[in-house]
Amino acid sequence: MWTGGAPRLLNEARYGVVWGSLGAARSSIEAARTYSVERRQFGKPIGAFQLTQQKLADMTLEYVKGYLLAVHLGRRKDAGLLRPEQVSIGKLNNVREALEICRTAATALGAQGISLEHPVVRHQNNLESVLTYEGTVEMHTLVLGQALTGMPAFR
Ligand SMILES: Cc1cc2nc3c(=O)[nH]c(=O)nc-3n(C[C@H](O)[C@H](O)[C@H](O)COP(=O)(O)OP(=O)(O)OC[C@H]3O[C@@H](n4cnc5c(N)ncnc54)[C@H](O)[C@@H]3O)c2cc1C
Repeated sequence: MWTGGAPRLLNEARYGVVWGSLGAARSSIEAARTYSVERRQFGKPIGAFQLTQQKLADMTLEYVKGYLLAVHLGRRKDAGLLRPEQVSIGKLNNVREALEICRTAATALGAQGISLEHPVVRHQNNLESVLTYEGTVEMHTLVLGQALTGMPAFR
């Protein structure tokens, strides 16, 4: 079990990433929502089309699930009960879903999705890095694999 020193510091930083990734996701959803009610095509705002609403709804679902996960992990942390594999669940899920939210938000912005006039592509690029640091997707997956099976597959 990881307890003190460097592992403890890593756990703290990873816990921070669980929340930080949500900020990027939320900002991207807000940008997509604002654009979709302002941008008009075919005589009405693109937010009035069902496919755009589906994007907004799906992004919001994943954001809310990630938020509830972060709150749950925070409560366990406050109680001194947070386990490293639970932090792995938060880091792995929230960064992966935040990145997917950014990608979806970029599609809602059309060509503006790659413009720095909107925050989405900046968040997206940043999250591509966050996917790697504080434990790669592969390493957190293996942490969960070990927790579930009792068998380490790291080497
Ligand atoms: C923006 C940024 C900031 C960073 N900041 C810091 C920092 O402050 N401090 C610090 O120490 N490091 C930092 N890093 C380094 C980061 O922790 C490493 O990049 C990361 O651990 C992966 O190591 P690597 O790049 O050597 O990849 P490699 O070890 O070359 O791995 C390449 C790929 O293979 C996968 N892989 C490797 N071994 C296995 C295995 N046994 N099973 C399955 N898959 C495997 C990896 O998950 C990865 O996807 C930072 C990285 C980035 C991108």
